[in-house]
Amino acid sequence: MLDSSPIISFRFAYLIAIIAIIFFAISKYGIPALLLVFSLYFLIKFEHPKSTSRMMAEDATLIHMPKTGGEGKSVVVVGGGISGLSAAKFLIQAGCDVTLLEHQSIVGGNNTPYLENGEHHATTVIVTLPAQQPHYLQLCREYGIEQTPHDFEDLKGAIVFENRELNTKMGSGIGGFLKFVYREATLKELVDGFIIFWRLYRQFKLRPESAKSVADVLGNRLVNSSVFTHFYMPWVGINTWCRFDDLDRQPAHVFASFIFEYALTFDIRDKSAKYKEDYWCVLDGRLIHELRDHLLTNDRYEQHLNTNVTGISRNKSGKLSVVTESGKSWNCDSVIVATQPIQALPIMGEVAPKILIDELEKWKQMDCYVILHTDFSDIGNRPWLHQTHSNKTTGNYYITNTIKPRMGDLNAKYLITFVYNTENYLDFRENHMDESTIVKLYEPKLPIFSLDNSIDRNTVWREIDTECTDIFWTQACRSGLQYHNNGIVSAKRVVRRALGHDW
Ligand SMILES: Cc1cc2nc3c(=O)[nH]c(=O)nc-3n(C[C@H](O)[C@H](O)[C@H](O)COP(=O)(O)OP(=O)(O)OC[C@H]3O[C@@H](n4cnc5c(N)ncnc54)[C@H](O)[C@@H]3O)c2cc1C
Repeated sequence: MLDSSPIISFRFAYLIAIIAIIFFAISKYGIPALLLVFSLYFLIKFEHPKSTSRMMAEDATLIHMPKTGGEGKSVVVVGGGISGLSAAKFLIQAGCDVTLLEHQSIVGGNNTPYLENGEHHATTVIVTLPAQQPHYLQLCREYGIEQTPHDFEDLKGAIVFENRELNTKMGSGIGGFLKFVYREATLKELVDGFIIFWRLYRQFKLRPESAKSVADVLGNRLVNSSVFTHFYMPWVGINTWCRFDDLDRQPAHVFASFIFEYALTFDIRDKSAKYKEDYWCVLDGRLIHELRDHLLTNDRYEQHLNTNVTGISRNKSGKLSVVTESGKSWNCDSVIVATQPIQALPIMGEVAPKILIDELEKWKQMDCYVILHTDFSDIGNRPWLHQTHSNKTTGNYYITNTIKPRMGDLNAKYLITFVYNTENYLDFRENHMDESTIVKLYEPKLPIFSLDNSIDRNTVWREIDTECTDIFWTQACRSGLQYHNNGIVSAKRVVRRALGHDW
């Protein structure tokens, strides 16, 4: 029976329209039209076997997780973010005894909510596209978590473009995007915007991943064009953690992957995704809570909060020992460190293989600020507002995203604004908002994607994991754009290795 959900009906209508146009063109213009259709089809279908698109397909393939093989084995997991919690879950499932050590007073890592009278207000993680994030979706389904679409179908957000605002609906798909571009852009913006789009598409799908930065691929003129600084940067840069300072070092394929994997999706990764799962959904911490609650009911699981791991050593019998700031230590057969790269380095340095340490050293960290506030003067009645500002002190551009955490909830009590770099945070506070409305400031940790650490990552990490025998590292940034799905797929791969299997 045909699913009658609105998304499927829209797709069906588009398909019929496209087929009708093709038939009309071929009957009127014959062979040239036929050639054009074939070239377009080839462009959309062709995928280089070493492209980012292929790698993302590989990352989206579900992995069988062993149900046995860990009996009698003790593992310490350092870090209780989505990566550490999911690693603990798969280890327990295979029969291991697991101790999770977390520095903060709650698990969840970067996913820290603002709590008020028992109510959770999101401060960082906000959206997810479950159909493109099969590992995340699989865990949600396992715990019976239903997806909640962001209720913004009729709501327009804005990208503030120099002297005007471009209003568009998020999640409106390729058709909606083209309509928006046609309606809102000038001819020069259209031409520049299309060239940028094409070059990024080529880098994402048609070419092997290479050491080419966004600036290399776009060139000086396009990187400085207003359509790039005021449209692509606040739209894409903010979602790939790319500041203006990173244009020379963020690989173009990483930047492009947000557009083609998530925003204007070409290939649905989880073909079994149902209505609601195939939509931008709320990421509200329910998965973190379920993981935590299920783990705590297991006799083979121990969790210690407020526990800062300071080092890992190996004793004479070859066993590993994990030492904390308070002097307490845990002996175990294996350790999985699930923290940001920069947090892992000082604790793993003595015992981890050199190949792993060398790779961790390639990840630098950026300053990220999340301001929870109640200044609604700019955003007004919109769900989100992406902006490029000019820093009054440095004269440089920077991007911000101000957002209602539950985007359909126009009566939201709090807003959050993301801003990168201390000098930009200070500029934003002073010149773009009413400082007296700030409720709380968060400083989540973010590693920087660069040409050193983000090319052909699956080959690199498979090799490193193969070298590791009893000490491993995992975190969401190892694959993709470090969303929740990336944390889970990386944890699965590392747990399989810890149990003696290949990826
Ligand atoms: C501003 C912002 C917005 C985001 N929005 C989204 C979004 O909308 N959707 C999405 O999917 N993702 C989003 N993310 C990304 C998401 O936060 C990450 O994917 C996720 O938090 C990474 O999880 P992780 O477990 O790999 O690492 P982390 O969350 O960094 O967890 C690491 C954990 O290790 C602990 N730790 C560190 N050092 C030690 C130590 N020495 N001893 C003990 N414990 C230690 C830390 O306290 C932390 O709990 C966002 C991130 C940011 C910063």
